[in-house]
Amino acid sequence: MADAHERATVLKATATYTSKVAETKASFLDWATGRRQLHQRKWEAIHRLDFHLETFERRATARGARVHWAEDAAQACEIILEICHRTGAQKAVKSKSMITEEIHLNAALEEHGIAVVESDLGEYIAQIRGEPPYHIVTPVMQLTKEEIAATFHEKLGAPRDATAEDLTKTARRVLREVFLAADVGVTGANFLVAETGMIAITENEGNARLVSTLPRVHIAVAGLEKVVPRLEDLAGFLPMLAVSGTGQQLTGYNTLLGGPRQQGETDGPEEMHVILLDNGRTRLLADAEQREALHCIRCGACLNVCPVFKGVGGFSYDTTYQGPIGSVITPHFRGLREWKHLSYASSLCGACSEVCPVHIDLHQHLLRNRRNAVDAGHVGAVEWIAFRFWAWAMRSPFAYELAARAGRIAQRLSRLLGVEGSLLDPARAWTARRAAPTLAPESFREWWRKRKASERKPS
Ligand code: SF4
Repeated sequence: MADAHERATVLKATATYTSKVAETKASFLDWATGRRQLHQRKWEAIHRLDFHLETFERRATARGARVHWAEDAAQACEIILEICHRTGAQKAVKSKSMITEEIHLNAALEEHGIAVVESDLGEYIAQIRGEPPYHIVTPVMQLTKEEIAATFHEKLGAPRDATAEDLTKTARRVLREVFLAADVGVTGANFLVAETGMIAITENEGNARLVSTLPRVHIAVAGLEKVVPRLEDLAGFLPMLAVSGTGQQLTGYNTLLGGPRQQGETDGPEEMHVILLDNGRTRLLADAEQREALHCIRCGACLNVCPVFKGVGGFSYDTTYQGPIGSVITPHFRGLREWKHLSYASSLCGACSEVCPVHIDLHQHLLRNRRNAVDAGHVGAVEWIAFRFWAWAMRSPFAYELAARAGRIAQRLSRLLGVEGSLLDPARAWTARRAAPTLAPESFREWWRKRKASERKPS
């Protein structure tokens, strides 16, 4: 919040996004019905997850792909490393995939001597800057063109005043060599189509097509929840994902991949592997109240409209998935005790639930996470006492008035004595960067009493 430049850049990016989305949404005859349909289709997929995943495995295997099941991040990395070692791979190229961020694949590959390069332009910029993605769809949303030019100048020798077109050309020149030299290509999967055993990837740069077809081996990593029953389901998911993700009617490249190179074909990898990752997803599936969080198609819309995300930025979350959806799922994936605080980073305005194309009631899930944290006893003593006191004061008009008076006196004293913002200020961490709100000089009840008294006075 302290970095005004970063906030301004993020606000500009999200404002552009909002106007583009409004424009493209207008071309839908009935967006609300579309949302309900997607919700229904995801509900169907998630409520028969075992059946659809097994169907996917059978069909994909029949097309020559190998399907692996990974319980957690460590097992997923182990499987990928085993494939790399068996095939003698030294160089890997990746397309944009948040799930590989989730399992920290780059670090695992590099640790075992396998060079890995991101090929999505945004991810590539983040990688050469040594930073994680800032946003699940827009990895370098916080950077201006000038900042990217400075990074390219420092890392790749591009001119300092390079235009956006020059910068893209530079990345393209570097990445062409990477695609041609890579032994292994790693992608995510936007959808797994059970009916056909295919994976669907949607992107704008064409890099995922190169990653999945040029190297000898293609490895796709996907969360269990990515499965959809039928091919025709994509007719709804792909356009609504594009609109919600980037404000486009459809992304530039939509690819269905079903198995490695078949006999008689000239293109495609020799081996294709699909890794189905659990990593906490079945824990969320077991929670009937919150399992709809698995409906998420990672469009990023909830981040773009969230006032907290726009205020604090992507890095503050310190998680793979930022914003409202990240705050809902991370405590399930990585532990409620350690990650419960994310669910409090919300004003509960409901803007996220309103834009979600699969109709997830995100703000209700944030509340449920808060309740679960309290029920599990994951709150500190000070917070516990403060809320007990607050509950008591809110139930009794007398206590409420007393507390409000005490608050006003304390605020006046702290201003008079210059305590605010000093070591003696109990809310110092909070007031260090913001002005404390000023309490009204009198409460509504006091004002009301005075008004009534003046009315009673004879004129
Ligand atoms: S929760 Fe909804 S809005 Fe947020 S990323 Fe997922 S699908 Fe998009």
